[in-house]
Amino acid sequence: MKIQLHDLKNQYLAYKNEIDTAIQEVLNSSQFIMGEAIYHFERMLGAYLNCKHVISCGSGTDALLLALLGIDIQRNDEVITTPFTFVATAEIISLLGAKPVFADIEPYTYNIDAREIEKKITAKTRAIIPVSLYGQPADIDEINELAQYYSEKYGRKIYVIEDAAQSLGAEYKGKKSGNLCDIAALSFFPTKPLGCYGDGGAIVVQDDNLFQKIKSLRVHGQTERYYHKYIGFNCRLDTLQAAILNVKLKYLAKEVTDRQNIAAFYSENFQSIKQIAIPYIKNDRNSVYAQYSLRTPFRQEVIEDLKNNNIPTAIHYPRPLHLQECFLYLGHTKGDFPIAEKISNEIFSLPMSAFLKKNEQLFIIEKVMHVFEEKEVTI
Ligand SMILES: *Cc1c(COP(=O)(O)O)cnc(C)c1O
Repeated sequence: MKIQLHDLKNQYLAYKNEIDTAIQEVLNSSQFIMGEAIYHFERMLGAYLNCKHVISCGSGTDALLLALLGIDIQRNDEVITTPFTFVATAEIISLLGAKPVFADIEPYTYNIDAREIEKKITAKTRAIIPVSLYGQPADIDEINELAQYYSEKYGRKIYVIEDAAQSLGAEYKGKKSGNLCDIAALSFFPTKPLGCYGDGGAIVVQDDNLFQKIKSLRVHGQTERYYHKYIGFNCRLDTLQAAILNVKLKYLAKEVTDRQNIAAFYSENFQSIKQIAIPYIKNDRNSVYAQYSLRTPFRQEVIEDLKNNNIPTAIHYPRPLHLQECFLYLGHTKGDFPIAEKISNEIFSLPMSAFLKKNEQLFIIEKVMHVFEEKEVTI
């Protein structure tokens, strides 16, 4: 038995005929840039999210960058985000010369804490980027309200940009993640809930003017061919990737349900283990379990034991952003974001995909339980 962290191979085999045909159609058309599959995908994803505007792009990182370029982030602007996320979320803020301002996370959902955000808002705050981590939306309503309140107070709009790279398919108070605030950034990196076969991303925008602007930023700021209104760059999604996504999007809802069932089965079994914290999902939303992550002070032992049984694990994320070398210039030290630091030391992820077989789930559960059964005795 060779268990995969994310079983992309069996997913491909399940949709092989359709995917091969879709790829062949693009090859036949030879419209590799902005071919028909791109527009089809943007329409389909818009319908899935029930939103007005979707702009596909080259990656989730591109989507975040387009969002900040779109709202015209300037040097010295401040953008509030979580220190407990993939580096891309904060990296693009720095890349544009603006300042990432971190706000600590909640101890159970691991999402950014709205009360911590409020303490960090200043007259320089231009945007807030909550991440819907592991596939569970953050407290978007509270964050939207804060943005609204302080926009009025300071007389300048504070945008809320959901980093929904991990949460496509999740729901929050009956609405889809990705359609909850001013802008959202999505990633189709292969192991994300909706993945293509390379890099890919999309941006969801509510405002009509911002939509036009970001669409043009994606193609060198052009409004008509060879007429350039803005300084943009090139970050289009490939037609081939869009064709693959068109097939996979049809199965996303089913895959999300399968993942949720697997997560429920995992949690049912792990909830009795005292030294483990299972994922905590608030009752007005759900998670798509981009990662199924457990927390325990005995992480190293569990990981090693699972490795000896050929069960792969991963750590999302072992070092919070404020302690990363690239952000040292911000002047943070250990202890600045104690919850993010504690979670980084204890979190790890188990294999998760809609194609994880029942016998694999049982094997993983048995091996995790085994580590703690021994502990019960030795403690
Ligand atoms: C994956 C990810 C990104 C970046 O997406 P890419 O497509 O890899 O550029 C950004 N933010 C979060 C939270 C992610 O998980």
